[in-house]
Amino acid sequence: MTTTVLKIAGLKVAYGGIQAVKGIDLDVRQGELITLIGANGAGKTTTLKAITGTLPECRVDGHIEYAGQAIKGLGSFELVRKKLAMVPEGRGVFTRMSIQENLLMGAFTRNDKQGIADDMEKWFAVFPRLKERAAQMAGTLSGGEQQMLAMARALMSHPQLLLLDEPSMGLSPIMVEKIFEVIRSVAAQGITILLVEQNARLALQAAHRAYVMESGLITMQGDAQQMLNDPKVREAYLGEA
Ligand code: ATP
Repeated sequence: MTTTVLKIAGLKVAYGGIQAVKGIDLDVRQGELITLIGANGAGKTTTLKAITGTLPECRVDGHIEYAGQAIKGLGSFELVRKKLAMVPEGRGVFTRMSIQENLLMGAFTRNDKQGIADDMEKWFAVFPRLKERAAQMAGTLSGGEQQMLAMARALMSHPQLLLLDEPSMGLSPIMVEKIFEVIRSVAAQGITILLVEQNARLALQAAHRAYVMESGLITMQGDAQQMLNDPKVREAYLGEA
């Protein structure tokens, strides 16, 4: 039987008078790579922020359940302790800390020194550029390198569920390929992923299932491969007539 890791039911989010999310349902099961795609302003980031409780001053209605527990109202630190980690849009690395220090911060909930050191080596093997620059300040890294660092930092917390917000944003095509390669390899290690992306083609190619969001609503959902072949998706999100 497959366990549901994340369950969202009837989620609504309003910024003042603007209803950004209008009542959505979404499920992520253990081991799945799920993508949430949609145009600018569809409400994707708002949905992720509702999960992580990083929407102060907002009205959030509905039910959000992670690992069988309601998590509305819990802060980011508490969620990382529960093995739910997020890599936000814009990455949010600690720019005045070295790469190594950033990775150690990612492991703040752990006290298994050897395990932390082993994991650091493991992620350095996946991201050799970070290893070469381990003592360098994170603020001096390129955009793509900062994205890798943000992912590696989140992975240092040993997440059960990883939320990724637009990991390809602002990166060169080669970096985008690399980031997707890493996302696939993380998923192959059994880490459950909810990926918000504007690069619908790559996201659908990598994902098991997908949800399409338009103006605050889920308008399509299903098998990612089938969606890649769906004429409506091809026209609206893959730039095909
Ligand atoms: P993008 O891909 O452009 O990031 P998105 O699908 O992630 O788009 P959101 O960022 O969730 O979309 O935005 C959804 C809607 O909510 C938009 O209309 C946006 O203008 C509005 N919105 C987002 N943040 C705020 C805020 N802090 N205050 C007011 N409105 C907001």
